[in-house]
Amino acid sequence: MNIAIIGGGPAGLMAAEVASAAGEEVDLYDAMASVGRKFLLAGKGGLNLTHSESSEKFLSRYEARRTQIAPILASFAPDQLRTWARGLGIQTFIGTSGRIFPSDLKAAPLLRAWLRRLRKAGVQFHVRHRWIGWDEQGALLFTTPEGNRSVQADAVVLALGGGSWPKLGSDASWVPLLAGRGIHIAPLLPANCGFDVGWSEHFRTKFAGHPVKSVAIIVRNAAGAESWHPGEFIITETGVEGGVIYTVSAVLRDEILAKGSATLRLDLAPDRDVPRLTHDLSRPRGKRTMATHLQRQAHIEGVKAGLLREVVSKEDFVDPARLATAIKSLPLRLAAPRPLEEAISTAGGVPFESLDEQLMVRTLPGVFCAGEMLDWEAPTGGYLLTACFATGQTAGAGAVTWLTKRGEGRILG
Ligand SMILES: Cc1cc2nc3c(=O)[nH]c(=O)nc-3n(C[C@H](O)[C@H](O)[C@H](O)COP(=O)(O)OP(=O)(O)OC[C@H]3O[C@@H](n4cnc5c(N)ncnc54)[C@H](O)[C@@H]3O)c2cc1C
Repeated sequence: MNIAIIGGGPAGLMAAEVASAAGEEVDLYDAMASVGRKFLLAGKGGLNLTHSESSEKFLSRYEARRTQIAPILASFAPDQLRTWARGLGIQTFIGTSGRIFPSDLKAAPLLRAWLRRLRKAGVQFHVRHRWIGWDEQGALLFTTPEGNRSVQADAVVLALGGGSWPKLGSDASWVPLLAGRGIHIAPLLPANCGFDVGWSEHFRTKFAGHPVKSVAIIVRNAAGAESWHPGEFIITETGVEGGVIYTVSAVLRDEILAKGSATLRLDLAPDRDVPRLTHDLSRPRGKRTMATHLQRQAHIEGVKAGLLREVVSKEDFVDPARLATAIKSLPLRLAAPRPLEEAISTAGGVPFESLDEQLMVRTLPGVFCAGEMLDWEAPTGGYLLTACFATGQTAGAGAVTWLTKRGEGRILG
């Protein structure tokens, strides 16, 4: 039996591995000239494969989708992912934050070894094959440099990715194709993204590109619960991105969607409280400038002082109690998330409600979906790749099971 896998990212490659290991004939198609481009880009940041925290905590990262993700991760958990990588000759280590990386912090050696193993297992790769839907006979239709090509497959795994970084191949062009078959697609939204603030010209020219370190971000979710997130982030030309901003980006994005803007609060001095800061800032300033006073009494300087100047009024700036309050809870109004193309990942996609437990589209028998094109999201920390590998594994196994059952049905019938 022939299984067509469309999309050669981590999810599609994993589906190909499972299906070929089960003895099926596997053809993998990708629009680009080579597979795994986003995976290789993730390698530039060290390739955070997964995380070592407890399974309970790990699952909580998928928030509203944890119930659907739980059984999928149960069949391909972080430990299994590490064993799988070892099988490819790639050792992994747990970093100080609990995140798990390949020892060499690279994606290319892992991808090379994986592709070699897949080819050896008989997987046929067809690059420069852009899937554009189905033809009148129900065959898969591709555009290729040689013209259109129709392909009949006994089962299909779609692993087409989300909509971020479209130049790497996942451009979300599958959305109208599936919507055209009556599948409701949750709108694709940026996840793990930056935000626009709209800095003053002075702040932007002075601080764009600067990291803001040893701070905490306080956000309030839709239910009104406040949470405190230590970390660091980067000032951009238009706003903020990176690190702890990604951690809280889903809550902030949803607030902007609901209310038109969102406000986060910055704690610029997590190791000091308001009374201590008020006391220290109340010390006589003498002839020292306010900048020197702030630096000496509150260890606030550089970009942190710049942020205070950007947000706090002149009157509050010279009032020790009000300045101390601002240092501990500086409101930063976010106007918009950065566009999906710039995001690390994508929220929205094919809802689990349209799929069965094996990730087959209920209304398209024999068509399975995996990876970032499914409607789940998670912060950075290895949760994205882990879920892509795991859903690829489930969809690949699902396609094999479905074909087996169909074959048995035919024989019995
Ligand atoms: C800068 C950056 C750093 C990241 N770092 C990490 C990290 O350290 N840890 C982590 O967990 N995650 C990380 N991620 C996220 C992770 O890379 C993605 O979640 C993951 O690659 C998604 O896998 P996927 O297989 O679902 O889709 P993709 O990897 O996007 O692959 C989809 C494939 O489908 C192909 N395709 C799309 N449409 C068509 C079509 N119509 N026809 C044929 N082929 C098509 C594409 O060419 C592509 O090869 C990072 C992402 C970015 C952008």
